[in-house]
Amino acid sequence: MKFGTKTIHAGIEPDPTTGAVMTPIYQTSTYAQEAPGKHKGYEYARTQNPTRNVLQQNLAALEEGNYGICFSSGLAAMDTILKMLEPGDEIISANDLYGGSYRLMARVYQKFGIKSHYVDMNRPEDILAKVNDKTRLFWVETPTNPMLNIIDISQVCALAKERGILTCVDNTFASPFLQAPLTMGADLVLHSATKYLGGHSDAVHGAVVVRDEKLAEQLYFLQNAAGAVPGPQDCFLILRGIKTLHLRMERACQNAAAIAAFLQEHPKIAKVHYPGLPSHPGHELAKTQMRYFGAMLSFELVEDSYDAAEKVLRNTQLFTLAESLGGVESLIGHPASMTHASIPREERLKVGLTDSLIRLSVGIEDVEDLIEDLDAALA
Ligand SMILES: *Cc1c(COP(=O)(O)O)cnc(C)c1O
Repeated sequence: MKFGTKTIHAGIEPDPTTGAVMTPIYQTSTYAQEAPGKHKGYEYARTQNPTRNVLQQNLAALEEGNYGICFSSGLAAMDTILKMLEPGDEIISANDLYGGSYRLMARVYQKFGIKSHYVDMNRPEDILAKVNDKTRLFWVETPTNPMLNIIDISQVCALAKERGILTCVDNTFASPFLQAPLTMGADLVLHSATKYLGGHSDAVHGAVVVRDEKLAEQLYFLQNAAGAVPGPQDCFLILRGIKTLHLRMERACQNAAAIAAFLQEHPKIAKVHYPGLPSHPGHELAKTQMRYFGAMLSFELVEDSYDAAEKVLRNTQLFTLAESLGGVESLIGHPASMTHASIPREERLKVGLTDSLIRLSVGIEDVEDLIEDLDAALA
């Protein structure tokens, strides 16, 4: 089955009791048993819920995996993966990471004796310099936020496999339509389904997909034991969003490419970060591991100041000034004062996150209107 067909059909059958074509929202916390311990596979809704089960099967198919495990948010999904580790274990992570992921490793798990190292993951020698016999997990995010760097998934996974280390890829920015990390050797794929999978900025949700049965058993155990499960209504919303994932992504990626080309020619723009531009350092790599180049981009102004950025941010009409990404609507944001404000300025500048850097999450509107909006704001 091809991707677009899977979004609509994989794991989804008409409801067995009523024939409902759309998966019902099973809004129940418990299930009747015929006799003590005799039930239809459902006992209590933290442990199993039919709406969630359908979504888990659908996600497993989209990511070319065997098991999907859903959570109440992307960070709850990550938290559950980190709970598989033991005190003393170590993580090697990309240094250009979603802020919340960094916070969970550095400020929560560090104090339980799980240490993380942050390196440029495109430099195998930098990764290997931090590997020791306690290394259990490589944490990869690609494309990265907000610099849109591309990390070579196959290369990182090969380094991990040779040493018996697990690799998790945060596939939120690409979505499974653009990139399938399990086919490149990753052991776990993480999603903030809040973003492209849901696609309509109306639900917070997370998921992990794996191929290995033993890993799946551990994750299902922790999903039930720690209990960060999503409600059935949110599972329904994500399932509904996924049905148009391929259409939304195609349009959003086309729009982003057109906007990147427009910005690159604009006299007030110093630099555009978009993997679809031949000048982007990750362009060739992105071609090999992604279907399209994504719908996120960032750019720097010639006048590199907070004030200059603020003028643009205050003056768009269609682009809404907001955090988050991946919805049908276009968003504009200022990482230095919003998503990445907790990172000290010197640290930010080291990874190229300048004061005037502006990030766009490009939606599926008509691109002529989006370009006109940016053009007016830049003027
Ligand atoms: C949003 C996001 C997360 C966290 O997901 P939540 O659903 O907000 O908990 C993790 N990784 C990336 C890349 C994200 O964009």
